[in-house]
Amino acid sequence: MKIGVLGGGQLGRMMALAGYPLGMRLRFFDRTPESPAGQVAECVVGDFNDSEALARFAEGLDLVTYEFENVPASAARFLSQRVPRFSPPPRALEIAQDRLIHKQFFASLGIPTADFHPVTSREELEESLKTTGFPALLKTRRWGYDGRGQFLLQGMLDRDEAWKAMGNAPLILEGFVRFERELSLVSVRSSTGQTAFYPLTENHHRQGILRLSLAPAPEVPPDVQQLAEDYAQRVFRELSYVGVLTIEFFYAQGKLLANEMATRVHNSGHWTIEGAQTSQFENHLRAISGLSLGSTTPRGYSAMVNFIGCVPHPDAVLAIPGAHLHLYDKSPQPGRKLGHATLCSESREEIAASLDKLQKLATC
Ligand code: AMP
Repeated sequence: MKIGVLGGGQLGRMMALAGYPLGMRLRFFDRTPESPAGQVAECVVGDFNDSEALARFAEGLDLVTYEFENVPASAARFLSQRVPRFSPPPRALEIAQDRLIHKQFFASLGIPTADFHPVTSREELEESLKTTGFPALLKTRRWGYDGRGQFLLQGMLDRDEAWKAMGNAPLILEGFVRFERELSLVSVRSSTGQTAFYPLTENHHRQGILRLSLAPAPEVPPDVQQLAEDYAQRVFRELSYVGVLTIEFFYAQGKLLANEMATRVHNSGHWTIEGAQTSQFENHLRAISGLSLGSTTPRGYSAMVNFIGCVPHPDAVLAIPGAHLHLYDKSPQPGRKLGHATLCSESREEIAASLDKLQKLATC
């Protein structure tokens, strides 16, 4: 099975590493020759609108997947005409790329979200703010990730500044959710229709960037896990989905509001490498290849800490009992994800003791 992957970031790198034991060789497509995945696997370097480079990439592939959702729809279409399978389906990619479309998609499936409004003019912003009130979040519809493309409006005085910063792109305005926790569900559906769900993960963000994941999320009532799985099933059915799907939720007063869906493996599922019977990366490869899915049962408790902008000395991390280190071999830049470490243990107390140390090491 020859699998092509669009994007060669750290998600691709971890996917390649999960593929080797299964005898799978992955070929990546990335703009840069020194990508994290390109360091461990074959990589075709090119731009997403370079059809000659895409055709070279597609040669001999059985299927194409992606690890990066800002793949232009034209590239997805071009490839889906040249390779036998493109998973997850191009429609899923189109939905995931646009914050407005995926909120409308959730609504069409009866999955609750924050109050949201499309904004294409200053007048529409004024009108929508009457419904959301303050605070509210103005977000770009496209190309936003890791907290980019967002403006928090605290009050009337912020309107001019928000419009000046964001007004030249298609936008969505969202009511601010006073959530108790952020939870994500990593789930997977194979091309044979088999599905599996990891336990909900609790995520902590700062400046819109994921810093810490705890898995399984502490004290989640079984009906909340069930509800999240039901929402994922609705997405699976509607899209005839194949691959890993992640839905990020806000949790408040026993209710889940869907914020985003990533139609790919996800940062909040990194803990599954050491913390679950089968990692999200392996399960994604199994799913798209039509192989049986692996168990998503956790092995005890896990905590995953991202290294953002700087990386601690490897030995300082490795000296912590139960710590597993992953470095992505990227050049340091503020706000850039450079690696992560996962703590695994049979006891939550043990993790809590080491987590403090690990989080201190992660601060630049
Ligand atoms: P996003 O880019 O939509 O994934 O948002 C990044 C982070 O910003 C989320 O994980 C939340 O912590 C926060 N956030 C986004 N939308 C909202 C909202 N409507 N209300 C409150 N916080 C939000």
